[in-house]
Formats: sequence, structure tokens, C-alpha cells
Amino acid sequence: MNTIAQLIISFFTKLTKFFSELKAEPLAEIKKEDDKEKTSPRLTKVVSKVTPRKEEIEEIDLPELLKVATKPSKGKPMETFKDTTIILDAGHGGMIDGKYQTNGKRSPEWSDGTQLFEGVNNREVIKLVTKELDTLGIKYVLTADTEKDVPLQTRCDIANEVEGDSVFISMHSNAGGGKGFESFSYARKGLSGKYNDIFYEEFPKVFPKERVRFNVNVKTPTAKTANFKVLRDTNMPAVLLEFFFMDTENDCRILMSPEGRQKIAEVIVNGIKRIIKKD
Ligand SMILES: [Zn+2]
Repeated sequence: MNTIAQLIISFFTKLTKFFSELKAEPLAEIKKEDDKEKTSPRLTKVVSKVTPRKEEIEEIDLPELLKVATKPSKGKPMETFKDTTIILDAGHGGMIDGKYQTNGKRSPEWSDGTQLFEGVNNREVIKLVTKELDTLGIKYVLTADTEKDVPLQTRCDIANEVEGDSVFISMHSNAGGGKGFESFSYARKGLSGKYNDIFYEEFPKVFPKERVRFNVNVKTPTAKTANFKVLRDTNMPAVLLEFFFMDTENDCRILMSPEGRQKIAEVIVNGIKRIIKKD
């Protein structure tokens, strides 16, 4: 009996020790892993990859930029509209001391010596849009509020800082030979696709004689999609509008005329009004 009792006690002692070691060991290992993580080359690499982006944002001072960019509406909001912030993105840079801030992105010099700088024109149109939004009491944020060209990542960062419901609208003009209007969402599905369709419907109402360029690589022509960074990396529904071809003279004349710009702004505002209209 004694021997059996001793055996049992010995067995349980071993079993307890076994379990306590089993419990202790993984803990020790986790700690070791933890120490390793802190100095692992993998983590160092990730940190150094993140740092330049952080510096870029700090240098640009995003909160300060947002404060400047967010214009409180001057008008009283109309009850017909939802509380949505319109993020207006004027593509490329403007003009500083007679120097255009973006390479390329300009029309040829026409025979009468006139020339269009896309970024300058984009800003002119956006200015007309904001004037109308002020009257309507619609909130907006500008991703490029000065003449400086703003990096695409910063444009996305500014947009993604906006709180509440928002819609991103990027204003551009086309090049590469062709004429008319086309616009893009990242995908056909979802609100971005739906809003893109709205602009496809609004453009011909203001410009009935101008061409509308659909994606014709499908059975029924649809609005176009594109993998553009500002469409892909913004967190809200986003569209990129391409009004006319700056390297086609007739199109460029529309872009350069005050009436043309006013009508382009009208298309954008009409689209916005439909997008944020209360049901
Ligand atoms: Zn452009």
C-alpha cells in the first residue's frame, strides 16, 4: 500500500510540475518573441517606410491646411439638401509669379497666342462652383486651396480627414486628341458609380451639342471607370470629371471662355444638387 501511495504522490507531483512548466514555457516564449519584435529587421523596415509619409504630412501641416480649406458656408442650408460635405479637387497646380506649377497639363499655344493651363482653369471652374455652393448653403472643402500643386496623397489625406458624409469631386480637362466629356469612378458599383452616372446625365443637359464619351467596350455603353489614385484612395464616393480636350482647339475654346467655364460649373453644381438632394 505504501508503495502504491508513494507512486501516486510521485505521479501527481510530476504531473503538477509538467503542467506548471507547460504553462510557464509559452509565456517565456511570448516574452522572448516580444523582445525580438522590438528589434526585428521586419519591423524596422515598416517603421522607416511609414516615417517619410508622416514627415510629408507634418511638413504640409494637415490640420492647418484643413482649417484653411474648410470654408464655412455663407448661405443658410436649404432644407432640400442632406448634410454632406462636397470635397472639391482642382487638378494640378496654378500659377505663381507667372510660373505654372505643373509640368505638361497645358494646351498647345494657338495661332492667336492663347494657351490654356489646365490647373489654372480647374481652379477657375472650382471658384465658380464654390460661389454657387455658398449661395445654396452647401458645405465644401478644397483639396487645393492655393496655386501650389498638391501631391495626390495629400489630396486623399485632406479628403479622408473630412468628418461625416462627403463626396469627392475632381475637376480636370482631357488631352490626347478627342472631344467632349467623360468622367470616371473607381468602380461601376456603389455610390461612386451612381454619382458618376448623374454627371453623365447632367453634362448633355447643359451642353446638348457636345460629345459624351462612354465606355463602349461593353454590350450597353456605360459611364467610365478608372484606377486613379484620388478615386481609389479616398474613403468616400468619388468621381473625376474630364471636361473637354484642351489639345483640341474647339474644345479648348470652350474651356478658355468665361461662358464655357460658367456652364461647366453649372454641370458640376447640378450634379451636386442631385447627389445631396433629400429623398
Ligand atoms: Zn488633369
